Amino acid sequence: MKKICILGTGGTMAGLAPNPNEPGVYQAAQLSIQSLWENCIAPLDAADPIRNAQMCTEQVAQIDSKDMSLDVWKALLRRVHECLMQPDVTGVVVVHGSDTAEETAFMLHHVLSQQDHPMFHKPIVLTCAMRPANVPEADGPQNLRDAVRVALDPQATGVLLVCAGDVHGARHVHKIHATALNPFSSGITGPLARVFSAPNERTQVGVNGGSNVQACITWLKKRHAEFPQPHQAPQMRRRPIQALWETPEWPRVEVVWSHALSSGWALQDLLSAKVSVEAQKRLGSPKLMGLVVAGTGDCTVHESLEPFLQQAAQMGIKVVRTTRCLEGGGQKEEAQKVEALSTSAYQGLSPFKARIALMIDLLISYDDLKFK
Ligand code: ASP
Repeated sequence: MKKICILGTGGTMAGLAPNPNEPGVYQAAQLSIQSLWENCIAPLDAADPIRNAQMCTEQVAQIDSKDMSLDVWKALLRRVHECLMQPDVTGVVVVHGSDTAEETAFMLHHVLSQQDHPMFHKPIVLTCAMRPANVPEADGPQNLRDAVRVALDPQATGVLLVCAGDVHGARHVHKIHATALNPFSSGITGPLARVFSAPNERTQVGVNGGSNVQACITWLKKRHAEFPQPHQAPQMRRRPIQALWETPEWPRVEVVWSHALSSGWALQDLLSAKVSVEAQKRLGSPKLMGLVVAGTGDCTVHESLEPFLQQAAQMGIKVVRTTRCLEGGGQKEEAQKVEALSTSAYQGLSPFKARIALMIDLLISYDDLKFK
């Protein structure tokens, strides 16, 4: 029998609105993952495949994902790793808030895709909701059902994000809309697959009742080249994955923006900041290890920032240049001149994802890096 571990971290799917007629006003992260799961399967036919798989639920955190913290990431990464390593586990589903789901998905992808172990072929499927649990037409139950169906699908592999019937890869997915029921896009790459629910399933009334039509997943074959690639381990010696949850702090990496009238003040402040002992206790190590520049166009940077970036590099701070543009970034030779561990690993990443990659690479592969 297939076994899926469902890990809860909170978000809107677990949220409650004081007034169900006002779905936009609510408190995220109120209901347990066990109750979300029971609610989502309640209307399913006894014959439904997701009723016939073995499920275990576990509350890893209970937060609004806008407040995502390193402690939660470490706990989640450790549990995902432990679940994947269990031979009887087919896949993992993570219920997450939509706000930072793409960052958590990418963090898991960046770590796990470098692990050279067949267990990491298994799917890790994040899902979320845009409406709290107690409002009419809450989207959480359907998204959770869809995510579990994807995790059970033999074609699923790597870190995926499922929302509103679309299945995205962790590398390309972005939240592009603040309130829409389908707020995610993988841009011109597009989703990897679509989940088609059974008739009536979205209304939660008598799912499959009186109908032989089953929910199904259509993988978009032509997109398979974009599939997250587990096992693409660059030839570097690394610290074991456990270092990521055993190390108290991850290297400090900040994002700076290049824009019209950039002055360089923010960058200068970052490079010269003196941090009080109290702030250090609260915020962690002040030592700046990396900078990600959210540049213009093809990773270009305002001339006022250049002297500070050079100063940063001389100070031993790793600088990665990315683009504010959602598409086409980092494709040219010129744009790849990033001071990073592996230039290809950063190609086309959003500034936020590049930041995550740099933090992880600095921590895991620090001793082995050759910077330009
Ligand atoms: N603020 C919520 C969160 O990310 C939004 C959501 O879940 O959609 O947890």
